[in-house]
Amino acid sequence: MTTHSNIKPDPGKQSGDDRYARQICFAPLGADGQQQLAAGRALVCGCGALGSVIANTLVRAGVGMVRIVDRDFLEMNNLQRQVIFNEKDVTSGLPKAIAAAQNLATVNSQVTIEPVVEDVTYANIDTIAADVDVIVDGTDNFETRMLINDFAVKEARPWIYGGCIGAEGQTMTILPGKTACLGCLMPELPPPGTTPTCDTAGILGPVVNVIASFEAMEAIKILSGNLEATNRQLMIFEMWHNRVRQLDTTKLFKTGTCLTCAKHKFRWLDGNLSSGSAVLCGRNSVQIGAPAGGQVSFPQLAQKLASVGEVTHNRYLLRVTIAEHQLTVFADGRTIVAGTDDISTARTLVAKYIGS
Ligand SMILES: [Zn+2]
Repeated sequence: MTTHSNIKPDPGKQSGDDRYARQICFAPLGADGQQQLAAGRALVCGCGALGSVIANTLVRAGVGMVRIVDRDFLEMNNLQRQVIFNEKDVTSGLPKAIAAAQNLATVNSQVTIEPVVEDVTYANIDTIAADVDVIVDGTDNFETRMLINDFAVKEARPWIYGGCIGAEGQTMTILPGKTACLGCLMPELPPPGTTPTCDTAGILGPVVNVIASFEAMEAIKILSGNLEATNRQLMIFEMWHNRVRQLDTTKLFKTGTCLTCAKHKFRWLDGNLSSGSAVLCGRNSVQIGAPAGGQVSFPQLAQKLASVGEVTHNRYLLRVTIAEHQLTVFADGRTIVAGTDDISTARTLVAKYIGS
């Protein structure tokens, strides 16, 4: 009679050679594709819910180098959907990029994992993304996505956009020069405060897994040399309503009016549209500059924030208190975050609660 304690692992089955057997067995990938994956370099930009699944999938798949960049630290409310983190990571107060790299290093020691604890901006994206073959979107705001889009189009680098809110998500693969870019889809940012964020509209874990898995699959196709297999449509998953939609973006691409991919104006990368941020000296406060896009509607924003903190507003500004932080939003979207002197923390709070 065999008991579990008698089952010894077969050393041969533990070797690195066998690790990717099921993947190599898939004919369109094969041994050649696996070799290309092993030489591939991916940037996972943002390591929250989407980034967790993307980084996890790419590291397990054997992508040679996975760089994980994130500006945030972990909170207990992340664990509901950010699947590579655990309670110990939260109590240890680690930045997400570091915790992700530590946890994934125990999964696949063959992969080089590079954590970067930074806010991606026009000033550093050249360095962070210079040597990667693909950029995969795990961010939580459109300002960073527009910046990635500028960089990717300028440098002819494939990137995969993904975003989720509530039970809905969307994703699009951008092959510069061949497909529509994010600027074709969204010529300007929505006005500040008008888009829901996962802190105001909530988010369900499964939709994140679907979108992130879709993004990771596209990255695997690109890195394994199977560009022709990539998806050429905007995919929209409305999971609560059991709907999947595919929108053809070819027409958008062919209009030739996109400032980014048709006219090669890189407004985000040039820093022209970058929201200036600054620590307000001696006040334990940070100012986050106005995003492009117009005026804030205070009644609309107050309604959105009613469930997260105490909100007051007059015709000049709106103020919301969330735990030890107080956010003061001006009509043009400029926000002063009191209770911190750290720009990344302030930017994270603005992205979470005000949106961009
Ligand atoms: Zn475009």
